[in-house]
Amino acid sequence: MSAIDLARAEIRALKPYSSARMEASGGSVLLNANESPWPSVMGGTGALNRYPDPQPAELIRRLATLYGVAPEQVLVGRGSDEAIDLLVRAFCRAGQDAVVISPPTFGMYSVSAGIQDAAIIDVPLRADFSLDVDGLLARLTARVKLVFVCSPNNPTGNLVPLAMIEELAAALTDRALVVVDEAYIEFAGTPSATTLLARHDNVVVLRTLSKAHALAAARVGTLIAHAEIVALLRRILPAYPLPAPCVEAALAALTQPALTATQVRVASLLSARALLAEVLKTYTGVREVFPSSANFLLVRCTGARNVYDRLLAAGVVVRDVSHHAALADCLRISVGSDEDHRRLLAALGRREEAA
Ligand code: PMP
Repeated sequence: MSAIDLARAEIRALKPYSSARMEASGGSVLLNANESPWPSVMGGTGALNRYPDPQPAELIRRLATLYGVAPEQVLVGRGSDEAIDLLVRAFCRAGQDAVVISPPTFGMYSVSAGIQDAAIIDVPLRADFSLDVDGLLARLTARVKLVFVCSPNNPTGNLVPLAMIEELAAALTDRALVVVDEAYIEFAGTPSATTLLARHDNVVVLRTLSKAHALAAARVGTLIAHAEIVALLRRILPAYPLPAPCVEAALAALTQPALTATQVRVASLLSARALLAEVLKTYTGVREVFPSSANFLLVRCTGARNVYDRLLAAGVVVRDVSHHAALADCLRISVGSDEDHRRLLAALGRREEAA
């Protein structure tokens, strides 16, 4: 048995759509896709009259180099959001299978599960936001196909130690996939769970260009897994998931000068994060600033809703995450520019003057 056997039998048997761009590449007279022979009239982004390559080889190659894996272990889609959705659809039979999540965590796992009619088993994080591995293993049934682990976790900001992820992967061998969402790992400076792939065929890692690489609008997310899993998911990927201008933007972000600039920016964001955390602690309305390995801070306030409203009235939008039982009175604040922080602190400070 291998991890691929956990996938839905219909998906393994599916004859995938064969798109025009997959057929007979190399010709120069393209009359097989009912495209326009004329370049689009809109200038700026280059000609857009041809369908794009479904999985552009150069983009895959650069992402594989960036993440230190082989090209056949890489699938690129519209953000990590699409990878989450593909995994749930490929591995969970509607009305039968289940995913495990550890709230409070990123909301898309349960949304994708809900769309597929997969059951959602909640194994809450412990009070210190660490993963409850024992609780998780205790809740595992044959129906569970995917266990989502977000590291660093959104919205709590803490890392899940790799040793813990490996323990989980070992315990779930031939039973379920461990999907490690590393959307924020560049801000943690720790090794990726891709280092576990050589030993565990049930580990899947999600990376994105949306955060550290500043490309949220281009929607370029990467799923990294054993080649068999990637090949399976490529079969159900939409025919042309990556718009050509987005591929261009991603390729530009993956040149050496751009990657060096990104490293400098990440380092400066980490200094800004540390500074903002220290300053926030001095505000009387702030009760706690949690340690963060991501590009945001989780902040416990006195009366989070009032603080949220006051910030909003000053034009500063943060995320109110206080609806979750473990996050009473908590706001999630992205680390922004110096000017963003000046406005944030000015809006927070007004309350002290009023108090
Ligand atoms: N995972 C986590 C933990 C996130 O917070 C987000 C975005 N907020 C995503 C994935 C989705 O990222 P993408 O832009 O790559 O779809």
